[in-house]
Amino acid sequence: RGLKKYFPIKAGLLQRNVGNVKAVDDINLFVKKGETLGLVGESGCGKSTTGRTIIRLYEPTAGNIFFKGRDIAQMSEGELRATVRRDIQMVFQDPFATLNPRKTLRAILKEPYNTHKLFTPKERDEKVENLLETVGLDPSYISRYPHEFSGGQRQRIGIARALALNPDLIIADEAVSALDVSIQAQIINLMQDLQREMGMAYIFISHDLSVVRHISDRVGVMYLGKMMELANKHDLYNDPLHPYTQALLSAVPTLRRKGQTVKRERIVLKGELPSPANPPKGCVFHTRCPAAMDACREIMPQFKEVKPDHFVACHLYE
Ligand code: SF4
Ligand code: MG
Repeated sequence: RGLKKYFPIKAGLLQRNVGNVKAVDDINLFVKKGETLGLVGESGCGKSTTGRTIIRLYEPTAGNIFFKGRDIAQMSEGELRATVRRDIQMVFQDPFATLNPRKTLRAILKEPYNTHKLFTPKERDEKVENLLETVGLDPSYISRYPHEFSGGQRQRIGIARALALNPDLIIADEAVSALDVSIQAQIINLMQDLQREMGMAYIFISHDLSVVRHISDRVGVMYLGKMMELANKHDLYNDPLHPYTQALLSAVPTLRRKGQTVKRERIVLKGELPSPANPPKGCVFHTRCPAAMDACREIMPQFKEVKPDHFVACHLYE
């Protein structure tokens, strides 16, 4: 609620603070137990920063992050370790970058249990073998090193590691973006199967609108650090309200609606994406919006629920 993450811009010999990049600027969102919230937007819109700030990999500049009734934003390091670091896990785009190359699969997957001092050594071995089966990897791979695996297998390892502590929420940041399309489908199906079995929620961050549509229950669209629109996926994809969402979706060639294929006219946005260090006044989208009015240049629209469970930040709906 009201989440902000600003990064200071430093300049000159003394590295004085000369301004802020408002990577996430006062956004509101919620994730229900066991559902998937997709977050989409062009690179630099703040979706990854949102994911990382939610688990305090980045310190929030302002706002509340309620999780199981407590505010993550207010927690001490000790409280974070005892709760958030167990109950919320992250899966990244490049699992190879986050897997220690000198550790075997066994050592990598045992790490969460060692860190949190859970189970006996024998139980840990059993858990690791179960994890491998759960994500569709042969338990005989257990003594191998990360470089011996393909991209898709490494992402299965990344998911296994995220599952080790039985989390309530997994934040997946471009988790399938580096994979071939056929492997993407396998990993997404795996994630959906795991969610059905184990009931965790996902925040699925991606620039790929088709992938997000496939996996999500609800979808949020971000632009320059702001949440532009948030709705259940059917409303968002079939009846987008925000001019930015409409433009994004118009770039996806065809959409299905009630069994029919609907072709959309491509909306080409004018101008360049402004710098997040110097976002436009008023509505941050006004410099590129085909529907911009005078008020849009001065007044920032409120993020409001305009239909049940359909939120939008645009003067057209006020
Ligand atoms: Fe476009 Fe104005 Fe709506 Fe912003 S508030 S999206 S500029 S119509
Ligand atoms: Mg990103």
